[in-house]
Amino acid sequence: MLIKSPGKVLDRLEFLGTWQNCLYLLKGKEAMIVGGGMSWIAPELERQIASTDFDLSRIRYLAITHSHFDHCGAVPYLKRKLPQMNILASSYARRVFSNKKAVQFIASMNEKMIDRAGLLEKAKEIDLQFDAIQIDRVVADLDTVDLGDGIEVRFLEVPGHTKCSIALYVPALKILFPSDSASFPTYDGKGIAQPSPQYDFRLYKELLKKLASLEVETLAFEHHGVLMGEEARRFLGQAIEKAEEDRKFIMTMVHNQESLEAVVQKFAGEFQEQTRFPFLTPEVQKSVAETVVGKILQA
Ligand SMILES: [Zn+2]
Repeated sequence: MLIKSPGKVLDRLEFLGTWQNCLYLLKGKEAMIVGGGMSWIAPELERQIASTDFDLSRIRYLAITHSHFDHCGAVPYLKRKLPQMNILASSYARRVFSNKKAVQFIASMNEKMIDRAGLLEKAKEIDLQFDAIQIDRVVADLDTVDLGDGIEVRFLEVPGHTKCSIALYVPALKILFPSDSASFPTYDGKGIAQPSPQYDFRLYKELLKKLASLEVETLAFEHHGVLMGEEARRFLGQAIEKAEEDRKFIMTMVHNQESLEAVVQKFAGEFQEQTRFPFLTPEVQKSVAETVVGKILQA
């Protein structure tokens, strides 16, 4: 089953944000927000936070799974709203957030989307400025955070999509938050999107196998919702196959002497079709496809 709309997923898990930018509220005695979204979805978050009957003072953590602009853009807004939260990320993500140029890029991509969504006025009203992210605690492989009531979160370092990527696993509930370290469902919910190994394709596949070995009943993505049950159990195996298929597809194009430019164009176009992300500009789309194709050819 694929859950496309924000709301209650399990007693302990709420889906926040939107279909394309998903965040989660994981509830023990204390609670953790998983994912940092983008600032343009803050009006949705504003409504969702206002309408929850959950005691907001219990939200003690926010985990950023990696430093891409579409996974951390709403963090400054959320931290202003819930200042008691400790912000968690990998040590490499902390390094990225201490880099002025990286922060400026994240801010500009989030601002552009606010403008395109016609939310400039709203952004002033609820203060959506992306100024900085202060990491309160660095998490490393196999670190845990105990939320109480039997809900322990285990962090897994998965440096394939980016060097700074982490996944979160909740053994008691068999929930995995793979972020972009695995493919996610396509926009129409019927297929599986391209792999995105922007750091290392070998590691990407290796770590995907590691994630696939976990017992999973719920896969909570940061793009395109939540898979549950049988579909969740099968998905990561399919993601491994998809990564191999896409590698073969690229190798075949190169073998047929297509130009690298043509391969990149085709790959970028396919990703756009699969995701229809309104926040990816054509330039970013192209540069991501260049990186991914390069990493796949290198492996
Ligand atoms: Zn990403």
